[in-house]
Amino acid sequence: MSVWSFKWLEIHAVDHCNNNCMGCNNSSPVASHREYSAEEYLPWLDELCRRKIPFEELSVMGGEPFLHSDLAHFVQTLKMRYRKRMMLSSNGFWLSDAGIRYHHDLLMLTDVLFISRYPNIAKEVGGNDAFEYWVNELRRRHPHLHVDVRAMEHSWRELSYTSEPLIVNKHCFNAECTNLLADGRMARCGPGAYAHLDHSICPEFTGSNDMFYDLKTDNSDFWMWRKRWPLDACKHCTHFKATTVRWKVLPGAPRHREYEVEYHRRMIANAASQGRFEQATEIATDALRRFPDEASLFSDLGLLRLLDGDYVEAKGWLLKALHLDGACREALQNYALLITKYRPDIQSNGG
Ligand code: SF4
Repeated sequence: MSVWSFKWLEIHAVDHCNNNCMGCNNSSPVASHREYSAEEYLPWLDELCRRKIPFEELSVMGGEPFLHSDLAHFVQTLKMRYRKRMMLSSNGFWLSDAGIRYHHDLLMLTDVLFISRYPNIAKEVGGNDAFEYWVNELRRRHPHLHVDVRAMEHSWRELSYTSEPLIVNKHCFNAECTNLLADGRMARCGPGAYAHLDHSICPEFTGSNDMFYDLKTDNSDFWMWRKRWPLDACKHCTHFKATTVRWKVLPGAPRHREYEVEYHRRMIANAASQGRFEQATEIATDALRRFPDEASLFSDLGLLRLLDGDYVEAKGWLLKALHLDGACREALQNYALLITKYRPDIQSNGG
């Protein structure tokens, strides 16, 4: 057994985020929309075990990990194989009765949930009081889960990069956040791990020799690499200064609404495909509270009513979708289905 161990090891479920925080690699307009499977990490986690490099917890991050199409499977695969504590980090955009109920299995598998509360996300959830209410509901419904909430508005750490070398005179807490990438490389910190997503970062930072340890090819002393401080990259990064700045979103691009709509529509489809129409309807209703002008969600609601045999109500929702967006592909398809397949039922119901 090594004398060293990781308290936690960070891995990414997705690269993208619904929030557009200024100074975050995963919010970069050029960041990839990439989702990872748990299976991509298994060879490298197995390799760490083979090299007797212990880790106590796996921290699943993003981007925003709740945008993953099957986060419960992702977490379950890792938990079953390595029997470690599982941590999740999220901005909590999914907090609601429908969201907490939908993620029941995922939350049962999770030991620690870090929630960063951003003003724009809290507003969508219903305001700070509503946000707090749902956090308390999470704690009440999942007493095993340690939920840690951090208000980000006044505690955003400045992160910028500079070609001119800085004098590094403080330890950076990020240097303790070792990341494992899906290609088998380990990175000393999150900003270094995902700097490739933001092409505007200076080459003096991205060209660091100290940042990565490649489990595929590197046989040098792992813990020597892990303990090195400061890194050559730190001279080109302001994060070690721990300067707190007011949190901001990218000008003109506050949130990726399309990711959130996609997230809700996937939940609706998953619940409906398992015959849980009532739950699917609840999710659609919650999503429409957030996005009252989103035609595709009205179309989903129409399809749910159609599958439930309520052709008149289905027609109403589909017409509402088409009223909002006459070119909404899903609404046109569902309306065509309603007319061609169910017209006799509509007529007999007076629709
Ligand atoms: S100062 Fe920058 S490069 Fe150095 S560990 Fe912190 S975040 Fe990473």
